[in-house]
Amino acid sequence: MSDVRNVIIIGGGPAGYTAALYTARANLEPLVIEGFNWGGQLMITSEVENYPGYPDGAMGPSMMSDFRRQAERFGTEFVTDDVTRVDFSERPFRIYVGDAEYRAEAVIVATGATARQLGLESEARLQGRGVSYCATCDGAFFRDRVVVVVGGGDSAMEEASFLTRFARKVYLVHRREEFRASPIMVDRARENEKIEFVLNAVVEEVLGDESSGMTGVRLRNTVTGETRELAADGLFVAIGHDPATSLFVDWLDHDEEGYLVTEPRSTRTNVPGVFAAGDVQDRVYRQAVTAAGSGCMAALDAQRWLEEQEHAAAPAEARAS
Ligand code: NAP
Repeated sequence: MSDVRNVIIIGGGPAGYTAALYTARANLEPLVIEGFNWGGQLMITSEVENYPGYPDGAMGPSMMSDFRRQAERFGTEFVTDDVTRVDFSERPFRIYVGDAEYRAEAVIVATGATARQLGLESEARLQGRGVSYCATCDGAFFRDRVVVVVGGGDSAMEEASFLTRFARKVYLVHRREEFRASPIMVDRARENEKIEFVLNAVVEEVLGDESSGMTGVRLRNTVTGETRELAADGLFVAIGHDPATSLFVDWLDHDEEGYLVTEPRSTRTNVPGVFAAGDVQDRVYRQAVTAAGSGCMAALDAQRWLEEQEHAAAPAEARAS
């Protein structure tokens, strides 16, 4: 039988590491099961210019190393692997990494969200052979090449602008004429002469084969239905994210898209002692700073909840003294 921890944090992004920092400083000796690919979405982001306290900006991965080190400094322990199963039916809660069992009185779920795919067979086949979900990771492979970015949100604008550092030409393909992205990001992309907007268009097929790699995309005009081919070496899909909640949906209340539901102005889930923080429960703000903020909230909620349990468990005379 494993020891019972005060708190286990599942997920190693801004929310998880901030929850770890706060619970570690509260002497709760947290364990973070941070995932094999720890760091979350900032690991696949280029420069972060909007995190307060970094006036000159910072690269996402280096910022996440800083978050992690700060949590470690106060005694946080880490398991760098993926949780495979949880059992929230009774306390202590059980969390499994393969055959290894971890138990905790309180759990903070901070597993974040992952990149959405177009869902094309050709997209799956050419992943790593031209198709990517991470301009920061793969952009440098496309020096002097032609790439296509799909999406009309801030991610697509940011990726398109970032890719012009390498690519000679970037097509930004979006399925309608209005953008979800903030106007400043759209303007920045529009002003970049390497970026060409292709609107009212969707990628119908990624062209190429596994041996020679991607050669282009076939686009379909969403208004006229016409198709055309565009020669390109890379496709960057930037169409949003899905919450990483498949392990939890049998236990925790969630909305129709799988985002965990927390009580208003709190990180409490429907299971007392289980808290949720960051993008896993936030479909609105989804920023590193808001994720970190909710990680702090979850730590404070968990700390108070653990104190209440101890208080409730103490004998009456001990409480009176
Ligand atoms: P998003 O805002 O949800 O935008 C997703 C885009 O992809 C939308 O334009 C959507 O089109 C399109 N799309 C979705 N599914 C598609 C499909 N199957 N085929 C073609 N197009 C599809 O996602 P995001 O851009 O990743 O941004 C997420 C959040 O992070 C936002 O709150 C954003 O502000 C924030 N963010 C901020 C920054 C920054 O400030 N530096 C950078 C990145 C992200 P429709 O519009 O037609 O639905």
